[in-house]
Amino acid sequence: MHRQYKIVMLAAAYIAAALAAVNIALRIPEYTAVILIVFAAAAVVSVLFLTLGMKYFRREHALKERESLSRIMHSLNAMVILWDDDFHYVEVNDELTKSIGYTSEDLADIKNLQKVLPPDAFAPSLQAIVNNRDEEFQVIAKGGAKVSTIWNTSIMTTVQTKTRTKCLMMSIGMDISETVRMQEELIRYSRELAESESRYSLSMELSEIGVVLKKPDRNTFYVSEQLCRKLGIEKGTDIPAETLREFFHEDDKKVFDALAAAMTNLYGADNDEIHNSEFRVLETDGQYHWFKFRYKITPNADINYANIGGAVIDVTKDKAKDILIEKMAYIDDVTQIFNRNKFMQIGQETFECASESGSGISYWVIVLDIDNFHLINDTCGYENGNKLLNEFGKIVEKSLTSGGIGARIGGDNFALLIHDTGDDELPVNIVKDIQEQLKDLCDESFGSQTVTCSAGYCKMSDGGSDFAQVLDHAEFSLSMSDGTKNEIIRYDNKIHDKIIEGNAIESELAKAIENNELVLYYQPKIDLSDGTLMGMEALIRWVKPDGTVVPPNKFIPVAENSLLITKISDFVLHEACRQNKAWQDKGYPPIAVSINLTAVDFYQTDVKESIQNALNETGLDAKWLDVELTESLALKDIDHAIQQMQEIRELGVQLSMDDFGTGYSSLSYIQVLPITLLKLDRSFIMYLEEDEISREIVSAVIRIAKSKKIETIAEGIETIGQAEILKQSGCDLAQGYFFGKPMPVDKFEEFMAEKAREHAAKVSANA
Ligand code: C2E
Ligand code: MG
Ligand code: MG
Repeated sequence: MHRQYKIVMLAAAYIAAALAAVNIALRIPEYTAVILIVFAAAAVVSVLFLTLGMKYFRREHALKERESLSRIMHSLNAMVILWDDDFHYVEVNDELTKSIGYTSEDLADIKNLQKVLPPDAFAPSLQAIVNNRDEEFQVIAKGGAKVSTIWNTSIMTTVQTKTRTKCLMMSIGMDISETVRMQEELIRYSRELAESESRYSLSMELSEIGVVLKKPDRNTFYVSEQLCRKLGIEKGTDIPAETLREFFHEDDKKVFDALAAAMTNLYGADNDEIHNSEFRVLETDGQYHWFKFRYKITPNADINYANIGGAVIDVTKDKAKDILIEKMAYIDDVTQIFNRNKFMQIGQETFECASESGSGISYWVIVLDIDNFHLINDTCGYENGNKLLNEFGKIVEKSLTSGGIGARIGGDNFALLIHDTGDDELPVNIVKDIQEQLKDLCDESFGSQTVTCSAGYCKMSDGGSDFAQVLDHAEFSLSMSDGTKNEIIRYDNKIHDKIIEGNAIESELAKAIENNELVLYYQPKIDLSDGTLMGMEALIRWVKPDGTVVPPNKFIPVAENSLLITKISDFVLHEACRQNKAWQDKGYPPIAVSINLTAVDFYQTDVKESIQNALNETGLDAKWLDVELTESLALKDIDHAIQQMQEIRELGVQLSMDDFGTGYSSLSYIQVLPITLLKLDRSFIMYLEEDEISREIVSAVIRIAKSKKIETIAEGIETIGQAEILKQSGCDLAQGYFFGKPMPVDKFEEFMAEKAREHAAKVSANA
């Protein structure tokens, strides 16, 4: 604009001068030509001067401009290259030379500079300028290192040459090595992250582990994709607590609440502790699955950035197995209530809690026994017996109205563990209620049978060093019942003294065995048809040094509860075989000797081997030995019993079923047991003479036994009347005070001699 104005002014001056020159020339005609020529020459010269001046001025101006740009460039805190677009002129600033380790002189030569820059550097600059674009390239530093740079080029000024418009450019560059390095690092990290994420999600997928995380300050959860799929929800990092809670089983919602609270309130959380929690969650298959959640709370310095969460594993299958195992181990098959194991486990835990000093909590332990349960088995059959047990289990469970647990602890014995409310009448009231319900049940389902139950009970705090002892006290109280129905007996001092007495007997008995104070008495077994001596039962006695004789029912039960019984049985077995062989060697007619074995001998020792050893050591023929087992013993584990009994029979030894009629078995059981002799219990014989039903039962049993080719013997015959009835009923053998009491060796030897004489007299009379 400025230049144009000057040109217009100059042109106007020339026009004015030309007009003046023409005017003067017209006024002086004779000099017109000269005036115009001089004016034209002057005009040409002045235009010439003007043009040269302008040119000079422009160059000066361009140099000044470049100098001032150069100054600016050196003052800039960035790499700068000032250059002509034909690279005839190039200047670099100190920042650039410093950054790449050269001096300004090194780079003054364009050739050197070109070695430092990539070949195409700034080539598209004009285009970059038009597009206002940055160029990124690497500059080679001294020593060969590459420095990443970014450049922006601007046209600073233009100079018009004859041929074209020349541009002076200024390129400003920044060292972006650090940024590039960080970018590369970032790319590497994100690649690694992507890889590890894909590894992680693959392993999650394959291992069926889900992940749940939570930020303490938010009420939402991150739930891993795989777990979301199981629940049928969209994968998300912000699943609201209420949404997740919905999936929890009704009974486990409180577990969720506790978890959510634990994952929010981190104060006092332990960094290293791994917490475990189990709950049921509804899956897309419409089933509740058991999940195990293993999580950790790792608070950071800034609590809001804590990592809380962990792995969720589907443990449904394990849980099902656990439940089955638990059921098998702790649930009684017949009643579906707890068994003895579970009762003992919970009882012991309760005992330990209650024993904690100052707990002030107390419990009652009640043991129940169905009176004469064997009668139900005998008269109604085994299945009905089981049905009664099952119903009784339900009654026991129902009686726990104010909490506690109930269990079947064996056979027809049940037990209750209930909280002591301070009312001493509570156990009695509960038992009475059970007795009442049992009566109603029997009226409805078991016809004419009156079934009753008795109970023994004690307070946990009444003594005992563990729960087993407390239960012992209740069981011991129950065993004090004298056989009447519906008894309820509380453990008291008298019972306590009896237990102490039992303990005293145990230690005394141990000494008695060492001192050989145990001896065998023998009781005859007589042929009912002709009075011949057919056998003898060896019955143990404890003869104290002062001569007092202790009957077996005083010490055998005590011995059964300790290891002493094995020693006693071993003694009886050897002694009975030895004595019988001795009598045979003395010339007495050979008869069988019977010995009694307990369940401990039968199930916990190798009876077959013991018997074989005794026979080998004494030289007694197996057929002169008879082993008496009770039916309740045989029924404890019927399959095992049958196998053991068969092994004994294979030795050639006889087998008798003792006390038949007192156990739980029905007559049908005789068929499956490999026995040779059935001993009718004294309780049937006692009332034979006056009781019609007893007579009928006895003759029915004898008939059935005969049909199975099993001999019968009646025990406890005290009168001739009983002997006569039994003889008429077809009973084979007899044992009882009427024929002979249990006698010591010398007396029995006399008895045998007498019998031998009787026999000889009979033979000679017949002859
Ligand atoms: P058990 O095997 O049924 O033996 C019969 C019991 O009835 C014997 O009592 C015998 O004395 C008694 N008895 C026999 N006839 C009559 C009678 O007419 N009237 C009365 N009131 N009683 C009679 P004991 O000897 O006191 O034995 C009792 C129980 O002790 C035995 O019953 C048996 O179960 C056990 N026992 C005896 N000796 C041994 C032994 O050596 N080992 C084992 N394990 N138990 C034994
Ligand atoms: Mg016996
Ligand atoms: Mg008996």
